[in-house]
Amino acid sequence: MKPVIALVGRPNVGKSTLFNRLTGTRDAIVADFAGLTRDRHYGNGRVGKREVIVIDTGGFEPDAGEGSIYREMAKQTRQAVAESDVVIFVVDARAGLSAQDHDIANYLRRLGKPCVLVANKAEGMTSGAQTVEFFELGLGEVLPVSAAHGQGVRSMLEIALERV
Ligand code: GDP
Ligand code: MG
Repeated sequence: MKPVIALVGRPNVGKSTLFNRLTGTRDAIVADFAGLTRDRHYGNGRVGKREVIVIDTGGFEPDAGEGSIYREMAKQTRQAVAESDVVIFVVDARAGLSAQDHDIANYLRRLGKPCVLVANKAEGMTSGAQTVEFFELGLGEVLPVSAAHGQGVRSMLEIALERV
């Protein structure tokens, strides 16, 4: 069985860009505005000789209101998390820590799912500044990555696979 990796995080942090980077496809829709990829997207990725299945999600806002598109996105994300062996939780190194990041961290902690926390958009930032504030999420190590440039992506995957 191929390990299944779910990409989770609030809208616009770069999940779909990371999905494209991991799967070598453009199946996920990358957008300059939040929340366009509303459904789950599955793709095949590879780390060295190991194959993985990657799930992109639309973005997760745990307390989205009734009837909101975000509510449906949250449901899709919960399903993707349930289907996965390990979660890659993506935050935005440039935008910094948000209340939604805390909500997602709490949700993942409650589930006790294996999880890797990555600070995306970290290219060109000094190494401390990329990650320091995200330690507050209480999920341990924070990996700086750049989905757009590929930096840190391989070691992120290797660490994710060690936690499966
Ligand atoms: P999603 O909503 O989490 O799926 O985010 P997207 O993948 O659609 O990306 C949202 C925005 O962030 C787009 O404008 C991307 O080009 C941009 N983005 C994604 N990854 C990076 C990155 O590594 N560095 C920078 N600077 N921008 C990025
Ligand atoms: Mg997306």
